Amino acid sequence: MPLLPDMDDFEKDFEEHYQTIECGRCNTRYELLKYDQCPHCSNLDEEGLRQLALQKQLDFDDRRSLGVTFTLVSVLILLLLIIYLV
Ligand SMILES: [Zn+2]
Repeated sequence: MPLLPDMDDFEKDFEEHYQTIECGRCNTRYELLKYDQCPHCSNLDEEGLRQLALQKQLDFDDRRSLGVTFTLVSVLILLLLIIYLV
């Protein structure tokens, strides 16, 4: 009996169980075995789909803004460390 489990079987089971597909309507991914249709947009009309796309864009802008803020703070900390050490 091997000491470690066979990772190939584990990965194959994991991929089959959590296989995702990208929705052609809203471009989000969902688990193929868990849902028959997209849980994000299947119950939305065109106006709801437009609102979902707008919300996704706003969320993306928020994450990008947070990334820029963290980058600026890390550069500031790096500059303060350089000034302190010189
Ligand atoms: Zn969808």
